[in-house]
Parts: sequence; structure tokens; C-alpha cells
Amino acid sequence: MIFDLHTHSTASDGSLAPQELLSRAAANGVTCLSVTDHDTVDAYATLDNSSCPGVTVVPGIELSTNWAGRNIHIVGLNIDPNNNDLVNGIRQQKLARLQRAEKIAARLEKKGLDNPLEEVTKLANGANIGRPHFAQYLVNKGIVADFRQAFQKYLGNGKAGDVRQFWSPMEDIIEWILAAGGTAVLAHPAHYKLTNTRLRLLTEDFISAGGQALEIVSGIQTKQLTDKMMRLCDDLQLMASCGSDFHTPGNSWSEVGKFTPLPANCRPVWENW
Ligand code: AMP
Ligand code: MN
Ligand code: MN
Ligand code: MN
Repeated sequence: MIFDLHTHSTASDGSLAPQELLSRAAANGVTCLSVTDHDTVDAYATLDNSSCPGVTVVPGIELSTNWAGRNIHIVGLNIDPNNNDLVNGIRQQKLARLQRAEKIAARLEKKGLDNPLEEVTKLANGANIGRPHFAQYLVNKGIVADFRQAFQKYLGNGKAGDVRQFWSPMEDIIEWILAAGGTAVLAHPAHYKLTNTRLRLLTEDFISAGGQALEIVSGIQTKQLTDKMMRLCDDLQLMASCGSDFHTPGNSWSEVGKFTPLPANCRPVWENW
């Protein structure tokens, strides 16, 4: 059984349509897939797994929030995408994304770039606008060589495009996930570059707000990192989740269904589904 519980489609910043993502997951041997787009469940409006009967689809989402001035992501798994509280919450997050996109565009305009919002809106093609769409715009304009440079110079931590103030608080986000019958997972804890002490504080706050699981595996990672996350998970009696965080084909470091296995002694998030 391969459970890939963290992936993206064209509904947010992934490059495959939901149905293409599902086919690719099936071809890679995934038996349980969650499409966890940033702040949207739009993928589920069109997803039909009758062509891939070997794959169980578990509805999910990746919601954006802040903690101590950092961008933090909470994955909601096994949610009812039509739940009212969740739908209302997603509406707020979508508005937050739009307002944030306007602010990022205004800041880039101050840096001399020409009408970025119009171009980025075209690139997003109806999807939730994210920083990767701004990165694509910067690459297309020849302003940067690649996404890495776009984040380094314009969009990453502390740069012009790093606008954080619009997201809903972590407590609200977890409340929506729980109201929708889902499990709240603290996504890719190693990405936040927190000290051990602060990562523990974040995880404790996450638990106080109702959070239940830690994504101890995100893509291919070292044994040292898996062991560290496993200890945190054990200490705080959380369930464990895993996923590729797949966005686009052709990245050797990220492919749907490919990630370090969960340690045998953890309590997997799907245990109670
Ligand atoms: P947003 O959801 O708009 O805040 O954008 C965050 C997304 O940008 C992440 O989910 C990644 O897909 C992407 N991202 C973040 N950092 C980088 C980076 N350094 N290089 C390329 N993509 C990145
Ligand atoms: Mn992304
Ligand atoms: Mn994320
Ligand atoms: Mn993600």
C-alpha cells in the first residue's frame, strides 16, 4: 500500500490537472491519494476515479496560516469538501489569496515591474494564485533564471513578495478541518527552519488547537530527519502522515508516490479511517 497524502494539481500551483495527477499516481503504484491543493478543494469537483479503481481518493486540502511570523501549512485529510464551515473558511482563504496577490503585485511594481497582477492572473488560469505563479512571471520576463532565484530574490522569506498578514489563525483553520470530519496534519515540519525548541512549541500550539498528526515524511529525506520527526511525533503522541508534496513532473526530487517510507512503529494517520 502506498499512501501519498500530499499532492498538488492545477487547482493551485501544480502543473497536472486533477485527473492527470490521479492517472500518474496510479501508474506509480499509489493505492491511496489525497490531492491537497493550497486553500482550495476545487480539484474534487472534477475528479473521477472510475478509470483508476485501484486508487482510493481521500479528499484533502493544504491551508495556509501564520505562527510567530512564519508561513505555516496545515493539511486537512479525509475531509468532507462540502462541509459548510470548511466551505466558508475556504472562501475567506481565497479572498486572502487575492488580497495577498494584489499586495505582492503592488510591491513588485514598486520594484519597477510592469503590471504583474494581470500577467499572473492569466498564468493562474482560474486557479488559486500563489507565489509560484509570480515566480513563473519573473522567469517568463527574463528577470530571474529559475524558480529558485525568484524565491531567493523576490518571493522568499523577508523579500518583497513575502506577504503574510491575510491568512486566518491556526485555531480557525483546524476548527474548519475538524468540523469537516477531517484530520489536521502539521505539514512538512522541517521546511520551517525552526530550532528544535521552537518546532516543539509550534507543535504544542498545533495540538492545543486540535491538531492530530505530524507529516513526518515529506518526499525523499534522510534517516536522521525521519528519526527526529518520529521522536517528536512519539513524544507528543501524534499520528504520522506522509506524502510527496508533488507539484510537477520532471523534478527528480519530487514525484507522486515517491517518498521515504514511514517508520514501522508509528501510528499512521489512516489508522482510524
Ligand atoms: P504560496 O502558497 O503562494 O505561499 O506559495 C508557496 C509555494 O511556493 C509552495 O507550496 C511551493 O510550491 C513553492 N515554493 C516555496 N519556496 C520555493 C522555492 N524556494 N523554490 C520553488 N518553489 C517554492
Ligand atoms: Mn505549492
Ligand atoms: Mn506546503
Ligand atoms: Mn504542498
